[in-house]
Amino acid sequence: MDYEPITPSYHDLTATCAACQTLAPFSQLFVCLKEDCGHVLQQKLPVLSPSLFYRREKVFCGACTFRGSHKAHRKYMQRAEPLAFITASGEMGTKLQMEFDKFLKTGEDTAVGYYMQENMELKNLPTPRIVEYLSKSGTIMEWHRRVAVLYNASKTLTDFREEGQKFVKEQAEELLTEFSKTSKQIHRILTVTQPDMEQLREERHETHLREMGIDPSTEDARSSFSSTSSTSTKAPKKKNG
Ligand SMILES: [Zn+2]
Ligand SMILES: [Zn+2]
Repeated sequence: MDYEPITPSYHDLTATCAACQTLAPFSQLFVCLKEDCGHVLQQKLPVLSPSLFYRREKVFCGACTFRGSHKAHRKYMQRAEPLAFITASGEMGTKLQMEFDKFLKTGEDTAVGYYMQENMELKNLPTPRIVEYLSKSGTIMEWHRRVAVLYNASKTLTDFREEGQKFVKEQAEELLTEFSKTSKQIHRILTVTQPDMEQLREERHETHLREMGIDPSTEDARSSFSSTSSTSTKAPKKKNG
C-alpha cells in the first residue's frame, strides 16, 4: 500500500470555526447542509482521515450555529464528528477493503496465491467488514489505531506471499542447477567413457578367445564375437593349445 497511518497531533483534534475563527474540539463543531448556503458541505476532496474532514469542510462552533451568524440555518446544521468518521471510514475503508479482497480473489501470479486459488476453499471465508470497523471507532485515536492494525495485517499478508515467492524461486533454481549437473554428467559419461568401455570389452573378448585357443583374427572368431553368448558352449575347450 502507498500510505502510512498518521499519528494525530493535538491540532488534529481541534479545528477553527469558519465564522468566528475560534478553535474548538472536533466534537463541538457543526456543518451546514443547506444547499444554497455559501458554506455548505462540499465533500469534493478526498478525506483519508477524520481530521482531514475538518480541514476540507467549513465547520462552525456551537455558539455560531445556535446563537450567532449561522443561526438562520440552524435546522440544517449537523454535528461534524459523525460525518467526519463516516466519510473518512468510507474512503480509507474502501481502499483497505480492496487490499484485503486482493489476497483472496487474485494473486495467481505468485506461488502462494496460485496455490490458494487452486487448492483452497476461499469462497466461504468471511471477508472483514473494514468500513464498518473503522466507522465504529469511538475516538480519532482509536480510528488511527484501527487503521494501523489493518495496515499491519495487510503488510503481514503481503509478506507471506513475497516470502513464499522467494522460497519457490530458490527451490526452482536449485532444481534446475541439479538437473543440469546430472544431465551434463550423463552426457560426459556417454561421450567420453563409453568408447573406452567398448574397447575394453573387445580386448577382454580377444583375451578370452586366445585362452580357448582361437585366433581372434580368423573368420570363425569374428563370427563368434558377434554372438558372444554361444561361443563359450560351441567352441571346444582346448586350454594351452
Ligand atoms: Zn464560531
Ligand atoms: Zn449555512
